[in-house]
Amino acid sequence: MGGPCVPSLPVMEALFSLSEEHQMIRDSAREYAERILKPNAARWDREETFPEEAVREAAASGFLGLTTDEEYGGAGLGNLHAAILLEEVNRWCASTGVTISVHNSLVCSPIQKWGTEDQKARWLPRLASGELLGAYCLTEPQSGSDAAAMKTVAKRTDGGWVLNGTKAWITSGTHAGLFVVYAITDPGGRKGRNVGCFLIPAGAPGLEIGKKEEKLGIRASSTTEILLQEVFVPDEDVLGDPGQGFKIALDTLDGGRIGIASQALGIHRACLEDSLKYAQEREQFGQPIFRFQAIAWKLADMATELEAARLLVHRAAWLRDQRARCTKECSMAKLFASQACNRAAQDAVQIHGGAGYTTEFEVERYYRDARITEIYEGATDIQRLVISRHLAQ
Ligand SMILES: Cc1cc2nc3c(=O)[nH]c(=O)nc-3n(C[C@H](O)[C@H](O)[C@H](O)COP(=O)(O)OP(=O)(O)OC[C@H]3O[C@@H](n4cnc5c(N)ncnc54)[C@H](O)[C@@H]3O)c2cc1C
Repeated sequence: MGGPCVPSLPVMEALFSLSEEHQMIRDSAREYAERILKPNAARWDREETFPEEAVREAAASGFLGLTTDEEYGGAGLGNLHAAILLEEVNRWCASTGVTISVHNSLVCSPIQKWGTEDQKARWLPRLASGELLGAYCLTEPQSGSDAAAMKTVAKRTDGGWVLNGTKAWITSGTHAGLFVVYAITDPGGRKGRNVGCFLIPAGAPGLEIGKKEEKLGIRASSTTEILLQEVFVPDEDVLGDPGQGFKIALDTLDGGRIGIASQALGIHRACLEDSLKYAQEREQFGQPIFRFQAIAWKLADMATELEAARLLVHRAAWLRDQRARCTKECSMAKLFASQACNRAAQDAVQIHGGAGYTTEFEVERYYRDARITEIYEGATDIQRLVISRHLAQ
């Protein structure tokens, strides 16, 4: 079944009290979020403006090389640090949150883990410094949950591979400097064992940015198609073995799911904080609506579920930092945190009444942003599939 049944003392410490280092990252992320994101997030969302200033400042603060080793210009921190940071960032701006999460967990981490010395030296310092933003290209128009059914093909040629295909829903597509692209390397091979992982810089001949999606939420994050036509990738930019790509993609998603679960924590906390404030200020029938048990109990549930979700997320992050098997725990964290976040967003709008249905109050944005946490990096049903498969092992 994987994972310890009885938490050891260090696990309990990691879960119940943050170390000084973890507190420092939380404080610096909170300062960044309140200074840069809080005043701008609603406007960026309304105008669908990519948060360039936020990404620049994140790079300057070292947030784009969080889990990248120090020798490659990163901060050399762990998944728990990243989870704590991402909750703070997503508290104010989920668009910036996903941009930072994808860059660290889906692009830097696999290069750090699976890359050759040469690949790490060539790509990681540029990613950690923010010179390049990363994008992860797995999904295609016809293959979402069933990602191994991708049609993008990499054909062997002298000194490398030639890629053709279309990737869909790619976060940071318009601004990425490096695309991590998954493609079939052996069309007749076994499904999932016939995929390669390719590192392709923006501007590579044949790589084009396609349609930009107009979205319900995280509207300041850019989401685009990526079109690949006869794109040559030299052998030195194949990550892992040419048949190992799907394994890399799935392992990478374990870490990514901690990032999205942390995003859910941030949005959930925003719903709770804003609703608590509103419920104590808004009066009906001669008293603050917080005095009505129906409202107070909603807030009690919201607060309890936030704490429960945070424990699951921090446990998954801590386990991944120990290099323990934690696919099930990452899926549990994402499943619970994203659903709890959506329940909180639903209640937050309800507590705000008509005001919550307008752009004057931020809960309207949180409600829209919450939806995505149940969809990307494995929809809710896919998390259940992963968890149940592990239960039956
Ligand atoms: C804003 C946004 C950003 C994204 N960013 C990226 C990115 O950067 N890189 C990337 O590669 N992808 C990205 N994605 C793609 C995302 O990961 C997929 O949308 C997601 O995996 C779901 O795939 P799908 O949309 O094709 O839905 P489908 O797979 O068609 O699923 C539709 C519904 O069917 C359910 N379903 C499917 N299979 C099963 C099953 N076996 N059992 C039960 N129910 C099932 C799903 O849960 C879902 O409810 C992004 C998507 C969005 C919307």
